[in-house]
Amino acid sequence: MKIKELFKNKPVISLEIFPPKPESPVDTIYKTIDGLYDLKPDYISVTYGAGGSSKSHTLKIADIIKNKYNIEALAHLTCINSAKEDVDNVLKELKSYGVENVLALRGDIPLDDEFDINARRDFKYAKDLVSYIKESDDFCIAGACYPEVHIECTDSKEDLKHLKEKVDNGVDFLITQLFFDNNLFYSFKEKADAIGINIPISAGIMPVINKKQIERITSLCGTSIPLKFRRILDKYEHNPEALKEAGIAYATEQIIDLLSYGIDGIHLYTMNKPEISRKIFNQIESIRSYFKEDKEDIIAEAVGS
Ligand code: FAD
Repeated sequence: MKIKELFKNKPVISLEIFPPKPESPVDTIYKTIDGLYDLKPDYISVTYGAGGSSKSHTLKIADIIKNKYNIEALAHLTCINSAKEDVDNVLKELKSYGVENVLALRGDIPLDDEFDINARRDFKYAKDLVSYIKESDDFCIAGACYPEVHIECTDSKEDLKHLKEKVDNGVDFLITQLFFDNNLFYSFKEKADAIGINIPISAGIMPVINKKQIERITSLCGTSIPLKFRRILDKYEHNPEALKEAGIAYATEQIIDLLSYGIDGIHLYTMNKPEISRKIFNQIESIRSYFKEDKEDIIAEAVGS
């Protein structure tokens, strides 16, 4: 099934996992998915290692999600280091598993000296990959977006213009970079609406349970840490249980606010820690039921009229 269809009944609740290291057996992922599948996510996405390092694991895991757990799968795919032939092979393999959804990404620019950004390559930006997938086959295509502007772009208007080009090339829905201040998302959404980006946008939410880890991630991706959240990190950094409790509460509060706003979807970065996702889902059980009832009402109304 194509994930874009799921947005007809929003909010779409999804989870993101990452593959084990290339040298580890792919089977270790079962423990993670076993801990997640009964949370009944609408779909699970699986990341692609930088430069395609975990490529075969990503594809195999998409197959496992789809065919062993019967959950829709979204396979991430980066292109900065790939030739058209590599992409053809990935799409062919996904198709053979019945996976119809790809998150088309450029990927981060490799930091090694040998990488020449100006060299001729098949794909320079994610929008080139989007066009190529669109021409190649009938996949549902997701794209990434950045409420706080992509770290390489100095101008938010330029970044939005590039996003619009990517969407116009054939993106069906967007997933945001993680953010900790919902107001930044609302302001981004308004600007995106204003320039005609009117496909669904899911909010990427990361529950934080480790101060050093989130400082490393935010320094790489440019997400800001608001004062309210900074206080939590500083206060409980040496007490893992307290930080975990506060991190889960913070993410839950963000999610409840976004759902009340009418968000298209929530995409939870699980960090392969099912127990954290489970705690969050337990806190929003009635809220999820509320939306389920709402969907049933809409269907009943449509059938009755
Ligand atoms: P693009 O959309 O190509 O944008 C990259 C930069 O290029 C932006 O600054 C944009 O403004 C600029 N740009 C675009 N078009 C033009 C143009 N025509 N002229 C000039 N500048 C332009 N990385 C991984 O390695 N594996 C993953 O699995 C992965 N999953 C992710 C999932 C999500 C939801 C998100 C938000 C990010 C993920 N990333 C992943 C990180 C992503 O690869 C990086 O953020 C990367 O630096 C940008 O990828 P993109 O697809 O957004 O690139």
